[in-house]
Amino acid sequence: MTTTGTREPMRLAQRQARAIQKATEQRAHVWALPGRPGFYQVRSATDAAERYVVAVEADGRITCSCPAGGYDLPCWHAEKLRTRRIREARRRRQLLRVVPS
Ligand SMILES: [Zn+2]
Repeated sequence: MTTTGTREPMRLAQRQARAIQKATEQRAHVWALPGRPGFYQVRSATDAAERYVVAVEADGRITCSCPAGGYDLPCWHAEKLRTRRIREARRRRQLLRVVPS
């Protein structure tokens, strides 16, 4: 049985769950591209020479240049950046709280 090309909601949810799990397992670093705000790079888990560009779109959506991202499917690279941004936002809020005005 092949499911190529199908986009059933359940399958998408499974992919999302897998992406989230892999993002927590992978120790790969997400680094910001100098001079390109909103653009980051993540190294491929399967090919050390391969790097994917993960970008934050104007509407806040996160896109990735990996094969899954090309099909608009969830991937762990995008998930990794999403959790990093949440962490950063949380840290900024904490800093705002301790810095006296
Ligand atoms: Zn990706």
